[in-house]
Amino acid sequence: MGAPGSGKGTQAQRLVKHFGIPQVSTGDILRKHLADGTPLGLRAKEIMAAGAYVDDQTMLEIIRDRLTQSDAAKGFILDGFPRTIPQAEGLTKLLAELGKPIDAVLLFEVNTDQLVQRLSGRRVCELCKKVFNIHTAPPSVPPECLPGRTEHQVVQRPDDQEETVRERLRVYEEKTRKPVSGYYSYTGLIRVVDAEGDIDAVTRRMFETLAAGGGSAGEPQRKVKGKRVAVKRAKVKAKKRARKLVRRKKAKAKRAPAPRVRVRRAKAKTRAIVRKKARKAKPKAKARRK
Ligand code: AMP
Repeated sequence: MGAPGSGKGTQAQRLVKHFGIPQVSTGDILRKHLADGTPLGLRAKEIMAAGAYVDDQTMLEIIRDRLTQSDAAKGFILDGFPRTIPQAEGLTKLLAELGKPIDAVLLFEVNTDQLVQRLSGRRVCELCKKVFNIHTAPPSVPPECLPGRTEHQVVQRPDDQEETVRERLRVYEEKTRKPVSGYYSYTGLIRVVDAEGDIDAVTRRMFETLAAGGGSAGEPQRKVKGKRVAVKRAKVKAKKRARKLVRRKKAKAKRAPAPRVRVRRAKAKTRAIVRKKARKAKPKAKARRK
């Protein structure tokens, strides 16, 4: 997980290399449909250009189709999916069906100004598909393009234009970052990675985070307790509270006076009330006699 431009795609590629399992990027799948001119590609074109999300049903179908392919049998790195709560819930069901639970959810965090700079400066080579940035990694530097070709043919993705970038970041914050990271915090799977700065440094932090099993190198652990642990703790607390109440009741009962004393006190109280009423009634009787 991560905002557009957080570098999650780049880091996913490094995980692919390390673990030898495929990267499943829903953005790439949609772009492939777009390039092939499929009905889905045509439908997604405007949605993507506007920085909005493709509907959950379609995304879940795409993911089911992809994760049931043979190369995903040993595992996969999801990139850009799930992006909404219905997608996260659908994924949980699908993975339960496939018997492949999630090991970890990495959340790449970068501040907004850096994201805008990264995205609006991003360029992609149409030929070799390598990604560059006019601010930090211009296309003039190696690596080479296709064999025998040194110069890249770079273009800007339509959804990397500044206005669309801001809309994508808004949608990400509203529909993905808050709800979906909350969903995975609850299940105790989330690991936060400080994704600012140098790509290699982020990779290092990512692997450290994975090895440590939570939080990021430079940050306090933000792993939230698992649901089962939380429920267990709540039950223990409730039992303690109930035992305390019983103890208090017993102590109160011990302190209570004997029944005979209680009757005497009640009678005295009644007599006091009767006397009080009589005192109040006297002046009225005197007035009537006059
Ligand atoms: P990305 O390359 O991951 O930034 O995705 C590019 C665009 O594809 C997004 O801005 C969305 O319009 C669309 N997209 C990719 N993944 C999803 C998803 N999981 N749910 C909805 N839309 C998606």
